[in-house]
Amino acid sequence: MSDTEFEAARLTVRLGAIAANYRLCQRQIGPAAVAGVVKADAYGCGAAPVARALAAAGCDTYFVARLEEGIALRPVVPTARIFVLDGGAPDTIPALLSHRLTPVLNSLAEIAGWSAAARETSSELEAAIHIDTGMSRLGLPGEELSVLAREWKKRLEGIRVVLWMSHLACADDPASKMNAVQLDRFRTALAMLPPAPASLSSSGGVLLGKDYAFDLVRPGIGLYGGNVQNAPQNPFQTVAVLAGRVLQLRRIDRGDTVGYGATFRAKRATVIATVALGYADGLMRVIGNRGVAAIAGKRAPVVGRISMDLTTLDVTEIAPAMLSTDVMAEFFGDTIAIDEAARAADTVPYEILTALTPRVPRVYEGA
Ligand SMILES: *Cc1c(COP(=O)(O)O)cnc(C)c1O
Repeated sequence: MSDTEFEAARLTVRLGAIAANYRLCQRQIGPAAVAGVVKADAYGCGAAPVARALAAAGCDTYFVARLEEGIALRPVVPTARIFVLDGGAPDTIPALLSHRLTPVLNSLAEIAGWSAAARETSSELEAAIHIDTGMSRLGLPGEELSVLAREWKKRLEGIRVVLWMSHLACADDPASKMNAVQLDRFRTALAMLPPAPASLSSSGGVLLGKDYAFDLVRPGIGLYGGNVQNAPQNPFQTVAVLAGRVLQLRRIDRGDTVGYGATFRAKRATVIATVALGYADGLMRVIGNRGVAAIAGKRAPVVGRISMDLTTLDVTEIAPAMLSTDVMAEFFGDTIAIDEAARAADTVPYEILTALTPRVPRVYEGA
């Protein structure tokens, strides 16, 4: 891509840690199987390298959101089953078929369309069917479930259901009553339907215990190192490390201001490090004057507003020997947990990762 070694910023992605997190899920829920959720370019980490690493760890089932994501993933994992969560709208059926993608059917209408496609191609077509148990987002609502339960022989003609699926709303909170409510609704639904493998849990559900595991779990953020249930000790290993290079260091005097809007005014002589990461890289602008970065494991608060390409840190407390214009400042990773970075931005690790733009090169470790 570039003919220079100079690297302004990078997202380091530890593929070994992804594999370790995958195996942790396996230990938690075995003998159920673990799929890899790699939608949104594997949460910004890069769908192809992540899928290959998961495949090496034994993964043969993947979930994407969009049809296009499935099409791009197909050559990466040629023999794996790839589920498309968006569903099976009529205009997507030809592409689903030609790329051997498995739709997660979300309604009776989609089921009818897939059944018709099976008739037209004189084949049996695999599908997952999503049952809404409380998200009210995708999946068959209660009244459609009742119809399917009564008429499944006719409605599922030509369809081989390879997964009954639902999705938990509050799996990140083990104390939420919603978890047991949805578990109960899912079990009730399964009892009304012909037998097939079932799946309820995303990363949070993996940690809710084996009652929630069924035959397949669908972790995403846990694979990428998120502390899903905000545990004192994150069971998942750190995967993603975002760092930007210090471009300039300067000493400012008491009373001097930093950045657009002059929103930070130094209360003392202050050393400012200007780092090559801004909101055009996907850094959240809201962390201006409230976020934190780290240099050589030492924390340095963000001062002033985040600009498009730059962020300014107060590095006064960091030993001068640690500071130079080629050191990297970490915004999340080993010193600043991604969950802490997310809290400082009033958001979740999912958004922190998926907001990173293509300007930030992804650098793979353990590839
Ligand atoms: C995104 C998603 C997942 C993965 O969720 P995480 O919280 O990232 O583990 C699983 N299932 C469905 C239906 C999803 O949309």
